[in-house]
Amino acid sequence: MVSMPFRRQLFRMGVGAVFGGAAARGALAASRSPDPAIDEVARLAFVNTHTGESLDVVYRESGRYLTDAIAQIDRVLRDHRSGEVFPIDRALLDQLDRLGALLGAGARAFHVISGYRSPATNAMLHARSNGVATRSLHMSGRAIDIRMPGVPLATLHRAALSLQAGGVGYYPRSDFVHVDTGRPRSWGARA
Ligand SMILES: [Zn+2]
Repeated sequence: MVSMPFRRQLFRMGVGAVFGGAAARGALAASRSPDPAIDEVARLAFVNTHTGESLDVVYRESGRYLTDAIAQIDRVLRDHRSGEVFPIDRALLDQLDRLGALLGAGARAFHVISGYRSPATNAMLHARSNGVATRSLHMSGRAIDIRMPGVPLATLHRAALSLQAGGVGYYPRSDFVHVDTGRPRSWGARA
């Protein structure tokens, strides 16, 4: 569906008068931009690998974040150990949306190994594994560890790197890719 404001804008520009029907849709597809203001509908699907919960929601429409959908996402991405819900960075959701788009028709739900982590949970995990940073962006809702069944981890990793946004960590032994909204950087084995 094309959002109405954008359609009106196109007509104001005279594009609608030149192209009709399928041609206009083609012109729209060609003019798709990462700018959320003209990206009509953004949808995300998650499966929480610890709780088994799944969610498939439209979380942004015509550049507006949908509060109810965001609340559902925050809940699925909560710290499953403590039950604490924390607001997930919307920029991270947009990164995941772009990642899903890059994977195209093969894209499925993101299976989530770790979303938000409370300071207590992070400290516990850090004590267990030197792969867990003391000041992890998971603690501020700005990081997520994911895999996507049906999509090779290396493919997911390459796609995440190609976004050139935030941090990307590759954990093939644990079978996940870490994505965050921190400064652009990457670590882990090369794909
Ligand atoms: Zn992580």
